[in-house]
Parts: sequence; structure tokens; C-alpha cells
Amino acid sequence: MSDNLDNPKRGINKKQVARKAFVITGFLLLPVVLNYLSPYLIIAGAAQAILNGSAIVFLIFFLSSLVIGRYWCGWMCPGGGFGEICTSVQPKPAKDGWLNAIKYIFVFIPWMTVILIFLVMAGGYSSVDFFWNPGKVPGDPIQIISVVEPYSYIVYYSVVGGIFILNLAAGKRAFCHYGCWMAPFLTLGTKIKNVLKYPSYHIEADTSLCKHCKKCNDACQMSLDVERIVNEKQFVDSVECIMCGSCVAACPTGTLKTTWRWHLKKEEEPGADIVRE
Ligand code: SF4
Ligand code: SF4
Repeated sequence: MSDNLDNPKRGINKKQVARKAFVITGFLLLPVVLNYLSPYLIIAGAAQAILNGSAIVFLIFFLSSLVIGRYWCGWMCPGGGFGEICTSVQPKPAKDGWLNAIKYIFVFIPWMTVILIFLVMAGGYSSVDFFWNPGKVPGDPIQIISVVEPYSYIVYYSVVGGIFILNLAAGKRAFCHYGCWMAPFLTLGTKIKNVLKYPSYHIEADTSLCKHCKKCNDACQMSLDVERIVNEKQFVDSVECIMCGSCVAACPTGTLKTTWRWHLKKEEEPGADIVRE
């Protein structure tokens, strides 16, 4: 299965090599940033009416996805970086489709419900503390690094172990598809920008160039049926797309390209051509 770092017609793709380096570095930084990506700390902060680092970061995720979709997932996310390391052990495609709903039904909705309940009970947010954690008392020095205490190692290895097991069992970036608590913030913004089609980062296709070789499908880090999607829609409209650009790098005909502007001639009409700049 192609790992899309090289394309026989274009040679080594430096952008994809850089992307791999970025996203794996993101994983290596997980012990530092874990507390800023924590669903538990948002609940604990809400219970004490404190808007903490995780809540602020997740708000930034949503706002950024209105412009660049799931770029975070493809280029920086620690979970995504570990997912791509796991892909070298378990390269089978993860199933796309209704299983993606697991992260909304069993993760996002219950989690949001608990946050809202605690927030209502606390009377709303009354303070902001980016570096807050439940063990912090007034006068404590700011603790920037997340994994320092013995219990935080348990949390860290539980998270990494859970991602590893899911990816091993279900395939490429399965955690991103089914279990990620960050993803719903990013899929929501991606959906909004894809429907409204204001200038935003996305992938379009000049379907007249497509040879239906499906190299894009093989390269897709999210196991999407890119060939079918772009030939039906002229752009990658799936909210599971993480804007990694692997499909663009793998396509031998230049059918796919990343762009900010929308060029669709007739929206979502199968086989319609794209007017190029
Ligand atoms: S978009 Fe490119 S890689 Fe995908 S099927 Fe068409 S020609 Fe092949
Ligand atoms: S469709 Fe392309 S950009 Fe989107 S996840 Fe798949 S390979 Fe990455």
C-alpha cells in the first residue's frame, strides 16, 4: 500500500515528508500538551466555573476548522501522529461510514451533556486560567508540562494504549474515525465551510484528468474513497478528510489540488467540469 511519500512521476514529495515529521513531532509532544487536550479537565473546570486551557484549545479547533477544516488532524495532532506510526504496523483501511457516528453518540454528546450540567450548576464560567488543573491551589507556580506526576503517567499511557489498540484492531487512523473527542469540533466547522463554500482550504478535482487509478484511495490516511467522492462532488466533501494532502501527492495526473477558492462550475453535479484559474 502506498504511503504517498513518493510518486513515481514526481519523485519524493517533500511536503508530505515534512507533514509526517510535523505530525509525529506532535505525538512526541503529547506528554507536554496532554492537559490542553483533555476532555476530563474541561468537565473539572466547568464544575468550578473555570475556563481552562483545554476548553480554550477546543474552541480554537472549532474556529480554525471554519477556515482550514481538519488541518490540525493531518499536520499536528498527537493522536494523528501516533495513528500514522500505528499504520506502519496495521496498514489496513479503516471502515468509513456509519461507524464514524460512534465518536458523536458515545463520546461527544455524553461529554457535552456532562459539561453543560456542571456549567449550569456552577452558574457559568466566572474565570479564565489557561494552566489550571484540579490539583492547583492559589500561589502554586504555573505548571506547563502535563505529564509530571505518577498518576499523569497512568493517564498518558492509558490514552496512548487505547489509541494503539483501536488502530491495531480497526485500521488506519481508526481512533480519528471512531474515538477522537477532538474531532467533532473540527468536523462541525468543516461541514459548515463545505456547505457555505466561502473561501476556505479544501481539495478540488479536475475530473476530466482522472484516470480512475485509485492511487488517491490507497494514499488516503483516512481510508476514504477519494476517487468516488471527487468524481461525484468535484471536491472532497467528507468531514473525515483531515487535509493531509496525501491524495494530492499520490495522484499521477494532477487531478487533485488544494485550494482556497471554490471553482465548482455546477455545484455537486456529477461529471461537471471545473473552471481553473
Ligand atoms: S484522482 Fe488521481 S489518483 Fe485518484 S483515481 Fe483519479 S487519477 Fe487516480
Ligand atoms: S482525502 Fe486526501 S487530504 Fe483528505 S484525508 Fe484523504 S488523503 Fe488526506
